[in-house]
Amino acid sequence: MLLEVRDLRVEFRTRDGIVRAVNGVTYSVEAGETLAVLGESGSGKSVTAQAVMGILDMPPGRITGGEVLFQGRDLLKLKEDQRRKVRGAEMAMIFQDALSSLNPVLTVGAQLAEMFTVHRGMSRKEARARAVELMDRVRIPAAGDRAGDYPHQFSGGMRQRIMIAMALALEPALIIADEPTTALDVTVQAQVMDLLAELQRELNMGLILITHDLGVVADVADRIAVMYAGRIVETAPVYDIYKAPAHPYTRGLLESIPRLDQKGKELYAIKGLPPNLLHIPPGCAFHPRCPMAQDVCRRDVPPLYEVAGERRSACYFWRETLDG
Ligand code: ADP
Ligand code: MG
Repeated sequence: MLLEVRDLRVEFRTRDGIVRAVNGVTYSVEAGETLAVLGESGSGKSVTAQAVMGILDMPPGRITGGEVLFQGRDLLKLKEDQRRKVRGAEMAMIFQDALSSLNPVLTVGAQLAEMFTVHRGMSRKEARARAVELMDRVRIPAAGDRAGDYPHQFSGGMRQRIMIAMALALEPALIIADEPTTALDVTVQAQVMDLLAELQRELNMGLILITHDLGVVADVADRIAVMYAGRIVETAPVYDIYKAPAHPYTRGLLESIPRLDQKGKELYAIKGLPPNLLHIPPGCAFHPRCPMAQDVCRRDVPPLYEVAGERRSACYFWRETLDG
């Protein structure tokens, strides 16, 4: 297994109290596999990823439990200088907003070249050539000419391609893409997503794709992990989830995407709001919004039940939900 996150817990100490952002997340990714992490805003998707990458804001953040096994090593036990070596070279992250992740005062060619001079000890000339190759690989037209341009001179979609190029530069084994296309126009979104999926296959990388958009993941993901209030509530192969969700929250997410075959029908929306992580509801955190909630849901946190095969659901009523 490439990456195994086990029972990860992260909290933030804030003036208002303790924000329990990640409450025992367990997931894994194999080489060549795409895991989509899905959930509404504020469910702890990014914080989990930051803890895995080792870029969590500490303080106020604190990892209070769990393991992050990457190729068998627990990254949480590494010293910062070892951690830094892993980051970039062995695992890399792609963020939503390329403009704030790229250096505004360096040309993109120089930024890409720096990856090779710093990490691979290449000469500047060699590194430049590799930078242009990479830009070509992420299909930036006239890459040779454009290497001398600054990030702001590129369109949003092209900038996102440059960020993908930065992440791929050292051919890491794992990429974490955190809402990589959310800031882009819909048509550009699909192009960037296709590119990422294609490169991932070519390089046989593990990919964690964080998104709140179920529509995006159908084509590219192998498995889905659905997060709610800092926990995984359902995880399963993509096909299974689309066929029949085993958690009422997943069902709500699925039913709230527009579908061509249901044109004109009113969209289902999950009622209410995601919980404030300062005050997570007792029992199943989803119970205040759940159409199936019973007393037990208000009282006890449900375990992740084994539904079948790789499929897990943290719902007492997963059978009823499946039959739904
Ligand atoms: P998602 O990516 O699923 O939208 P996040 O992982 O970003 O959600 O956030 C989960 C929770 O952690 C949120 O309640 C957020 O307010 C809190 N959080 C994230 N970063 C910080 C921080 N630096 N300080 C305090 N709280 C934070
Ligand atoms: Mg996020």
